[in-house]
Amino acid sequence: MKLFDCHTHLFEYPRDEITEILDRAQDSGVAGAILAGTTIETSRKAIELANLDTRLFAGVGIHPMDIEKQPSDENIDEIRHMLDDPRVVAISEVGLDGMEGAPSQDLQECVLRMHIQLGHETGLPIIYHARFAYPWILDVLREEKAGALGGAAHYFQGDLDTAYKCIDMGFYISLARPLLRIKELQEVTRKIPLDAIVLETDCYPQPFKKKRENWTEPRHVLEVAEAVAELKGLELNQIIEQAGDNLIKMLGQRSTEVTRLLGE
Ligand SMILES: [Zn+2]
Repeated sequence: MKLFDCHTHLFEYPRDEITEILDRAQDSGVAGAILAGTTIETSRKAIELANLDTRLFAGVGIHPMDIEKQPSDENIDEIRHMLDDPRVVAISEVGLDGMEGAPSQDLQECVLRMHIQLGHETGLPIIYHARFAYPWILDVLREEKAGALGGAAHYFQGDLDTAYKCIDMGFYISLARPLLRIKELQEVTRKIPLDAIVLETDCYPQPFKKKRENWTEPRHVLEVAEAVAELKGLELNQIIEQAGDNLIKMLGQRSTEVTRLLGE
């Protein structure tokens, strides 16, 4: 079994770097990645790239911080059409953001509900963003019965109670590099069951980091997996196996290609 990065924005990197990035990931035992779109345009880009490299898969969605206005019927049809692409494995990145300056709460909620409804039409899982958005988002997910679709709480940094609420609703806790430094998150990780964990990097280009080798890439999923192993007092292999099984379960009907890749 291999590792996998269930949430990235690799389409933001120069296209001629993507193959090297994926090769470096493979050298670290990370077989592939999901590219999470943040707008209709980048969702389209994610699908395009996922059709060019067998290690890539796409998520489609409008990020709460990128909502400009109520999506038109035409926009919704376009999203629906994109979800049909066999390389699309999740509705992502969607969610709620409570940060100052974010779009209005009503608009964000409406767009998230629209995405969840598309999830019910397609059966695709929801990999969601929630910044300063608990418990708000749990109410919306519950009202829209998103638990039936499952998915993941992406870049999770909440407390133990919140983690259990997500898990109980049917979502995986998706851990990224903040696990390496945030003590509270390490405590939460120690306590939640291993069969509730998936791994990611949320990587995008980081020009503010002077050294290129310090930019986060899918290869860093290995570090996150090692941290989980240490926190739980388990072998790295056990983390790799379980995280792989969790991912396959989370992706459900569209997991076939990912399963193949993880087993290669
Ligand atoms: Zn993201």
